[in-house]
Amino acid sequence: MSKDVSVIVVGAGGRMGQELTRLVLSEADLHLAAAVDRQESLPDLEHLGCPVVQTVAESLAVAPAAVVVDFSSPTFSMEGARIATEAGAPMVIGTTGLDSRQKEELALLAEKTPLLWSANMSIGVNVLLRILPELARALGPAYDMEMVEIHHKRKKDAPSGTALMLGEALAGARGWDLADVRVSGRDGLIGERKSAEIGVQALRGGDVVGIHTTWFLGPGENIQVTHQAESRSNFAQGALRAARWLKNMPAGRLYSMQDVVGQSS
Ligand code: NAD
Repeated sequence: MSKDVSVIVVGAGGRMGQELTRLVLSEADLHLAAAVDRQESLPDLEHLGCPVVQTVAESLAVAPAAVVVDFSSPTFSMEGARIATEAGAPMVIGTTGLDSRQKEELALLAEKTPLLWSANMSIGVNVLLRILPELARALGPAYDMEMVEIHHKRKKDAPSGTALMLGEALAGARGWDLADVRVSGRDGLIGERKSAEIGVQALRGGDVVGIHTTWFLGPGENIQVTHQAESRSNFAQGALRAARWLKNMPAGRLYSMQDVVGQSS
């Protein structure tokens, strides 16, 4: 059977890369065209049954029609994006920690080849980013918005980046900046809750991958919306959905997962 989308996985030896190659090999419409990683990781990738190489240029030489999916490191992803642009190949980048200059460069490269970058590839979180502001607007200002996030005990930052993204979306729906209205931690005689306030609280413990619950607390009723990540598989699933989508998109601007979840699957 011919496969619809050929995929090159960059950073194939990493945690996300291993999840991606496993999924690509198991999906009927996807073909693993090549795996890219450092020289020392290549022997561990031989079992994949595809060319294993050290650069995106080598991978595109063997699979010029493939979509590149990269979860590696900022410098390597930028290098790959320049090579993909020269070759006119579509590329999905999930690497985080890009600085503002690197993001600006990606936007320029995206004028020449289809490029998508997102710091959170989870389909569920990206759908929530669309629907939470709709809920906030539909319910109106009488409904107070609060969020609780739970993560494993090794996590160092709080609140989570995802909680802040969701909080910004909620604040935006009310015309606020999250920085002005976020309350993280309440203790002592703090007085009544203000209406222009979004509580974002962090719980830590065990090995929880990530739970985010948003509360809309209104007169006589409340709504809770919970997203629960079970494993990093949801990021890989999102990246592969993005790869399928990007294959048919023109160059022009830097796409994000928000563009992908805006379309039906
Ligand atoms: P990891 O360290 O387990 O894997 C990275 C892989 O990339 C490694 O195999 C490494 O050898 C390879 N790599 C890095 N630099 C390279 C170079 N110069 N040449 C060749 N290979 C190179 O990390 P991970 O947990 O898989 O995460 C990878 C990236 O994806 C991180 O930036 C992480 O924050 C990000 N991430 C994003 C999402 C999302 O939803 N967007 C989800 C999870 C992780």
